[in-house]
Amino acid sequence: MTETRAGRCLCGAIVYEADLNGPHFHACHCGKCRRWGGGPAFATPSEAIRVEDETHLAFYSSSKHGERAFCQKCGTHLFWRFKTGAGLAVWIGALDEHDDLSFGSQIFINRKPDNYGFNNKTGDLTGDQVRALFAAGK
Ligand SMILES: [Zn+2]
Ligand SMILES: [Zn+2]
Repeated sequence: MTETRAGRCLCGAIVYEADLNGPHFHACHCGKCRRWGGGPAFATPSEAIRVEDETHLAFYSSSKHGERAFCQKCGTHLFWRFKTGAGLAVWIGALDEHDDLSFGSQIFINRKPDNYGFNNKTGDLTGDQVRALFAAGK
């Protein structure tokens, strides 16, 4: 059951509604997320996102499979999506409400550097395990 949440970028040029897959999020420790955001990415897998006005919405093709959406005006990181349209993950920091979401998992745990760590109890997945889930269409 999806849950619709509103969100927006820092400057307000981009306002959206996202249909979250559930009331949870993950931290991604992969090198691309850490370089893009300056640290691990907190994102929530989502069914769909509807952007009100896409004028300032830009995409960066970060891999063969995925692209990253951000606001051209203020740089806010918004979401990651499969180029095929098979799914997306919305960065929770841009949601208007996210304090009630639970920290479900840490992905690409094998890429996490040793100089930080979260003490939440989460399900941890390596990059290979994440890719296997994607391949299985989850
Ligand atoms: Zn903006
Ligand atoms: Zn990542």
